[in-house]
Amino acid sequence: MTYRVGVVGGGQLARMMIAPAVELGIDIRVLAEAEGMSAALAATQVGDYRDADTVLAFARDVDVVTFDHEHVPQPVMHALLAAGVAVHPGPAALEFAQDKIRMRTRLAELGVPQPDWAAVSDADALQQFIDDHGGRAVVKTPRGGYDGKGVRVVEHGTEAADWFAALAEDARGGDLLVEELVDFRRELAQQIARSPRGEIATYPVVETVQRDGVCAEVVAPAPGAGARLTDVAAAMASEIANGLGVTGMLAVELFETTDDRLLVNELAMRPHNSGHWTQDGSLTSQFEQHLRAVLDLPLGLTAPHAPWTVMVNVLGGPAEGGLAERVPGAMSAHPGVKIHLYGKDPRPGRKVGHVNALGEELDDVAYEARAAAAHFD
Ligand code: ADP
Repeated sequence: MTYRVGVVGGGQLARMMIAPAVELGIDIRVLAEAEGMSAALAATQVGDYRDADTVLAFARDVDVVTFDHEHVPQPVMHALLAAGVAVHPGPAALEFAQDKIRMRTRLAELGVPQPDWAAVSDADALQQFIDDHGGRAVVKTPRGGYDGKGVRVVEHGTEAADWFAALAEDARGGDLLVEELVDFRRELAQQIARSPRGEIATYPVVETVQRDGVCAEVVAPAPGAGARLTDVAAAMASEIANGLGVTGMLAVELFETTDDRLLVNELAMRPHNSGHWTQDGSLTSQFEQHLRAVLDLPLGLTAPHAPWTVMVNVLGGPAEGGLAERVPGAMSAHPGVKIHLYGKDPRPGRKVGHVNALGEELDDVAYEARAAAAHFD
């Protein structure tokens, strides 16, 4: 018998599940959006993930369907369940990662700390929230945002007119999400894996550094994270994973406020950029853990290999020439750094790879990782 996993979506997250699948003898198949995507190595089908028949046909020969992204429509997921296909995370959990207003509503029910928020249907309601929160607020499109697209700091209710207009055109309709502008010291992420049988594995809380709304670096563990912060972050993530019925990897993005509170920013129910450090820095990488969790296999230990691991994203890549040409120079200057490339063409701002460095001294590790990543600029 062979375990068979089907991944919907052919991006770098699916790609990075391939190596641990091969190591564990898992048959991994990918439904990619197009030819030549990052996970082309395992793509068994190219097709539209929004089409139920396409996804059902893809799912016929696998034990479980999981995802590289959160965009598979709910009706498609329910069609899989109706056909008897195991889906992890399931639609009831994934909807909280697909819609930020639903997420805020559910976290409020669970009593999980989060920024003040409201669902607003027009510029007047938005203005009211801004006035009530010191003259500024963060407006978000509830669906389809990523890497800061769909997030806007505003001072006037009129500044989201284009998004209100787009929602009015959208058959699903709905409101915009508005949140208080959180005065945070830094951003953290807490990852946890949960399997269908309810087993849980928690990773150390990490610091994530964003530039222009995009994750630039991750430091594991978060510097200065003592027992209290570590425990509170882990407890929040397990409460969310259990409360929402998440299966597979869950990333909880957090704000550490200047008055020492932890507030949930958002959730990702799949391997996440904040966990790329685990490929080289943890006994069980997030990609292996995700496969174990969705197959309901026992989870792996998450102990780190070194006191510090730093992950630096390669964003954009070189303006001239390909990424491959830069590999020998990076390898020879930084033989201790692990390079991960996604098989994507360079394009400004695009996540095309990352590097991981690990070691005893944070300053040295961060320097190595940044210097290695800079070879790809
Ligand atoms: P995306 O879904 O595009 O990743 P996020 O909701 O994570 O969007 O927001 C992107 C970034 O915007 C966050 O990492 C944070 O830096 C900033 N941000 C988001 N919400 C708030 C908020 N309520 N207060 C302050 N900054 C915020």
